[in-house]
Amino acid sequence: MNLTLATDDTGEPEIFASLQGEGLSAGVPCTFVRLSRCNLACVWCDTAYTWHFDGDARPHRGGKTYDRKANQVALSPLEAARTIDRLPPRRLVVTGGEPLLQATALAEMAALLPDHAIEVETNGTVEPPARFDAFVGHYTVSPKLAHSGNAAELALPPARLAAWAADPRAWFKFVVAAPADVTQVLALQAGFGITADRIFLMPEGTDTPTLRAREEWLAPLCVEHGFRMSDRLHIHLYGDTRGT
Ligand code: SF4
Repeated sequence: MNLTLATDDTGEPEIFASLQGEGLSAGVPCTFVRLSRCNLACVWCDTAYTWHFDGDARPHRGGKTYDRKANQVALSPLEAARTIDRLPPRRLVVTGGEPLLQATALAEMAALLPDHAIEVETNGTVEPPARFDAFVGHYTVSPKLAHSGNAAELALPPARLAAWAADPRAWFKFVVAAPADVTQVLALQAGFGITADRIFLMPEGTDTPTLRAREEWLAPLCVEHGFRMSDRLHIHLYGDTRGT
């Protein structure tokens, strides 16, 4: 089974080496593979080219839709693994879109990369099948709050959140756009018994001035509640661009 990857600006599969910009591994050199498709539709999604294709009427902040053919490329697990293996970092970040929608093919790819430590960035709605889960050392789980525009029934399935909360490999990263969003984080934390030190709050934003402005009120909220704060290092370094 092939993988459906996102494309970079040249139309090539979006596989690249960079510094991880967010969460627990921020600053670590990593190889990234970005998968196309998502089962949610966040109004502020910064990778809408993975899912907001022409004809999709769901709202997105930019209002732009993308040509599916130009923004998706199929690779076999072997082709993807070879491309990943040619890049120096031995830490692989599997991201999207929602990468766990393609976990069967990802398991085939992961089996070909025995030297890589694998981190998965997920919206937390999809159960990883055991075949792929066995290869994963670190999950960054980013449940989507009400301000994302997704219905809670889709974005916050209780059984899945409980499973992530029970998995010591899972770190939670909540995107927040306003101080009031933290109220929902606190409710989820209490509801699922997640310790504060496993929770990152990250400002929503795709430019440095927005991130900096939001971090001014976010930092004291993290201190107050014992949460970690995540910046978005890649935005400061490269802006809102593909392949970075
Ligand atoms: S879950 Fe992630 S990839 Fe999917 S729409 Fe939301 S921000 Fe975008």
